[in-house]
Amino acid sequence: MKPNFQKIIEEISREVLPLLGLGKVANYIPELAKIDPRKIGISICDIDGNVYSTGDCKTLFSIQSISKLFTLCLAMKLEDNELWNRVGMEPSGTAFNSLVLLEEENGIPRNPFINAGAIVITDIILGKSKHPSDSILKFMREITQNKNIKFNDTVAVSERKHGHRNAALSYLMKDYGNIHKEVEEVLNLYCRHCSLELNCEDLARASYFLINQGKDIDGKTVLIPRDVKRVNSLMMTSGLYNNAGKFAFEVGLPAKSGVGGGIVGVLPGQFSISVWSPELNESGNSLIGMKVMEMFTTKSGMSVF
Ligand code: GLN
Repeated sequence: MKPNFQKIIEEISREVLPLLGLGKVANYIPELAKIDPRKIGISICDIDGNVYSTGDCKTLFSIQSISKLFTLCLAMKLEDNELWNRVGMEPSGTAFNSLVLLEEENGIPRNPFINAGAIVITDIILGKSKHPSDSILKFMREITQNKNIKFNDTVAVSERKHGHRNAALSYLMKDYGNIHKEVEEVLNLYCRHCSLELNCEDLARASYFLINQGKDIDGKTVLIPRDVKRVNSLMMTSGLYNNAGKFAFEVGLPAKSGVGGGIVGVLPGQFSISVWSPELNESGNSLIGMKVMEMFTTKSGMSVF
């Protein structure tokens, strides 16, 4: 029998309340520091398209690195061959914005979910699309089935002003020949897609094709099954940076996090789940979000393992 998703997420929402105050809201992007830290939203979209939600599930938030999941999918649609020569498929074991491995490995980022990898993906989209910002927005609106999805340019500009590490990563990769467009242009688009605002329900819906072998709720192909397998595997091994092992151990779902406090996870054939709680742990992942995911797979008895 299918577990009662609504009852489980309501129970979890109450049980995680004592954890409020244990994490810290991201403040290296000044605009993100303004967020109310006490928000908690959870949404699930099951394979039949039913959506179950609690708390602040309708409040928009900055998806930040979760956008890397969607830009990767878009880049895979635009560029099939060269992509995997320019970015790897191994976990990094380092922080999302680390420079350490990049020089040792000749400017080829370990995977598309660390900042360096996502910046290469942004460069690929810039090279393949005439109107790259519009292409990203169009893709996001299609997969969320929500025409109101937007970038938040105040957040994008705030990050652009303070994102010196991302500039350092980009210039280093440019030196190795792994950034083809102008660095400034790449960084502008990268910050822009990180500033996308979705709510938990949008995010659960947006990930539906990853649980349905690449097809959206209307049966339209978003990604071919081989690429869905690849994306979900990368989420499992690298979606939570240096917490990827801990997350696999405790939760057992492919997932992607962002410093806005969101996490989205998928169980192919069953459900996608999104959580938003802005306070982060020391690895930049939502502290309550990780706990919610762990409690959900434990209580429902449903994980990939
Ligand atoms: N835009 C953020 C950055 O580049 C994304 C990081 C994240 O969400 N982990 O630092």
